[in-house]
Amino acid sequence: MKGHARVVVIGGGAVGVSTLYHLTRKGWSDVVLVERKELTSGSTWHAAGLLPLFNMSYSVGQIHKYSVALYQTLEAETGQNVGFSKVSNIRLALNRDRMDEYHQYAGVAETIGVEVEFLTPQQVKEIWPLCNAEGLVGAIRHPEDGYIQPADLTQALARGARQGGAEIYRQTRVMGIERKPSGEWLVRTDKGAITCEHVVSATGNFARQTGAMVSLEIPVIPVEHQYIVTEPHPEIVRRHEQGMPEMGVLRESDGSWYLREEAGGLLLGPYEKGAPCCYTDGPREDAEYELFQDDLERLTPHIEAAINRVPAFGEVGVKEVYNGAIPYTPDGSPIIGPAWGLRNFWLNEGHSFGITAAGGAGWQLAEWIVEGEPTIDMLGVEPRRFGDYASKAYLRNKNEEAYANVFTIHYPDEERAAGRPLRMAPCYDRMKARGAVFGQKLGWERPNWFAPEGVPQEDHWSFRRSKWFGHVGNECRNVAENVGLLDMTAFAKARVSGPGAEAFLDHLVANRLPQKIGRVNLCHALNTRGGVHSEFTIMREGPESFYLVSAGAWQRLDHDWVTKHMPADGSVQFQNLTGAMGVLVVAGPKARELLQRVSGADFSNEAFPWLTGKEIDIGLAPTRALRVNFVGELGWELHHGLEYQNHIFDALMEAGADLGLKPFGIRAMDSLRIEKSYRLIGTELSIEYAAYESGLERFVHPNKGDFIGRDALVRWREQGLANQFVTLEVHDTTDADALGNNPIYQDGKLVGRATGGNYGFRLEKSLALAMVRPESSELGTELEMDILGTRHRVTVIPESPYDPENQRLRS
Ligand SMILES: Cc1cc2nc3c(=O)[nH]c(=O)nc-3n(C[C@H](O)[C@H](O)[C@H](O)COP(=O)(O)OP(=O)(O)OC[C@H]3O[C@@H](n4cnc5c(N)ncnc54)[C@H](O)[C@@H]3O)c2cc1C
Repeated sequence: MKGHARVVVIGGGAVGVSTLYHLTRKGWSDVVLVERKELTSGSTWHAAGLLPLFNMSYSVGQIHKYSVALYQTLEAETGQNVGFSKVSNIRLALNRDRMDEYHQYAGVAETIGVEVEFLTPQQVKEIWPLCNAEGLVGAIRHPEDGYIQPADLTQALARGARQGGAEIYRQTRVMGIERKPSGEWLVRTDKGAITCEHVVSATGNFARQTGAMVSLEIPVIPVEHQYIVTEPHPEIVRRHEQGMPEMGVLRESDGSWYLREEAGGLLLGPYEKGAPCCYTDGPREDAEYELFQDDLERLTPHIEAAINRVPAFGEVGVKEVYNGAIPYTPDGSPIIGPAWGLRNFWLNEGHSFGITAAGGAGWQLAEWIVEGEPTIDMLGVEPRRFGDYASKAYLRNKNEEAYANVFTIHYPDEERAAGRPLRMAPCYDRMKARGAVFGQKLGWERPNWFAPEGVPQEDHWSFRRSKWFGHVGNECRNVAENVGLLDMTAFAKARVSGPGAEAFLDHLVANRLPQKIGRVNLCHALNTRGGVHSEFTIMREGPESFYLVSAGAWQRLDHDWVTKHMPADGSVQFQNLTGAMGVLVVAGPKARELLQRVSGADFSNEAFPWLTGKEIDIGLAPTRALRVNFVGELGWELHHGLEYQNHIFDALMEAGADLGLKPFGIRAMDSLRIEKSYRLIGTELSIEYAAYESGLERFVHPNKGDFIGRDALVRWREQGLANQFVTLEVHDTTDADALGNNPIYQDGKLVGRATGGNYGFRLEKSLALAMVRPESSELGTELEMDILGTRHRVTVIPESPYDPENQRLRS
């Protein structure tokens, strides 16, 4: 066994071996993999091998697409057959909402280049004659989809990796991982120790045990999953004898099951409610090729649904039942990327569709390790999208919920119930008493909208304008006419200070830092390729101290980014203030009058201009007011110690009663921000788009001195930009708006995608934000955009269609 390697990958399932393989493809041959038992002896060996391309996430969709393409090339490259059966995959729809979901998905698929066809019930019957078409409203089909032999796939990847110089140590268990004084890692195994630059954890059901070796709480706990294999069915055997093709994979999402042919019989895999978490304290030390006792009773409703759809399934006996562990995360997507707080420690864990994802996950992780950056937007699978709140008890709740919801309709405004409420701002009860219907971000409860008196305080999800649409409209109008109050306590907040703080931050962001104490600037941190990684609102609070505010959803990611870039000489200190500070936003033309009633401070334009901050009192409570907001009205963000929040809340509500002060929620905020063309990280801002493509020219100063991503960004512009951020007016919509990932066409050709959209209540227009080819971005250009299967005329309009001169913000 080698005593030194560049990378040690821990775990010999499909995911770990794919990572090893892709490292060698990137030219790193001094890499090893350590597996405690045999390759595939974790979850990989018993997987059904399905390769579902379907996924609503842009990141996961691209990962799956890559895998399916790669797997078809492996035999030619390695000589190992992987048993790829490209039999296609049909997903049935039994209702209109499901069809809406498929249309929304088809948009994601088209923008990433995955082929999808829509089928009528009759066409389903032609391809799947054993399927009863009763009650179907339609279906989609992926012709490129199919299944594979997971063990053969893993062996092929292992062979490819070995050909590239990698070594694989089977029957070798990692017992401990330590950081050496040199900064390298020391991986201790039962067969000796290996010093390395990078460690990759790809340990499936053991993720939490591996994490514990480096004090990392990895948010993965597996859930039991079963599938049933039947005896051969005479009709299927007859079809084979007559040389007819396999009928392919069939999924009835509304019945929550998948089905395919297996050795002349059928293989049925239901995703049921009540499947329990397993291995909550990790598998046994000697666990290998492990299965659990089957429990067919929990599957009964799904088996009945399957028999109703494919009666043949009920006509043959059960040959075998597999009940195995699938690693799960709270949202069901894997975690692929850097571990927080540790340099050169990488996670490729939490894979619930790990056979499908292995190829793409290994590819992007290898890019990240070797090049320092991934090449696709990985936010959907980012390990730092969770936080400390993801306790073991939370994971048990959420992961079971994620499993039970694999096949439920993935509405864009869906808010799942398990593990809530958990993180609550002090004003939570006050908001609830005023009708708040909550959503959740990074564990925080945030009002999404407010049910007026007499309206049930319950959410209603849809791909179209939902029951809450009109109420959100009233919230928006109240912000435009009077003044609204928004809880943004979930914001990530931090202090960066010390003698080196200014130089450090200046190098971290593309904008100039605020020079005067009390000035506020919007600053973007680019990655080394010139794409946008993070967005910070930065206030200079002292000669050597800066206050940073960024998206609540990305708190761990943003703070990890800052701290990992900090110099090691102690000249810069970082303090996470997220859990200590609350934020209430007051916005609207009467915001000034409201604040004057509760504070002795001067809120006039002269004393308190736009983009400045001050320490003031609200009632009796010390507060930091920043004159910025995300809704395009006169307004202030009020940052305060959480213990003062209710005092401030009550003072505002009391003073604002006759000004029409009303709380508003995140859904109103989204509508208001779209009318201002304000970008968000993860949609309009992404590492896949150059900061210039996202239209950030006024926030990027290549001449200010060096900063991360500057040279790459300048080169990117010189080589030519492929996209341009635009604002679109959507015509002829009556009940649905763009949701993001809507394909955009010019003369029938795909020229871009919407990144977000909403109805703008102040403008009374349906709007979308989008990335299109530069030649299609001229003002006034007429394009077409797909919304739920209908092509709409859209026009490129000037940015910030609401108050383009920002007069209201500055008023
Ligand atoms: C019944 C069932 C059906 C499934 N069907 C499908 C399907 O059709 N399609 C699909 O995409 N997915 C499917 N899955 C999910 C799939 O099996 C997993 O997502 C996938 O196998 C995960 O691969 P992995 O490499 O992450 O983990 P694993 O295959 O579990 O590999 C992890 C490896 O790490 C090793 N390891 C752990 N700790 C250490 C240590 N300290 N030292 C050394 N080695 C260590 C383990 O021994 C293990 O071999 C199914 C799962 C089940 C249970």
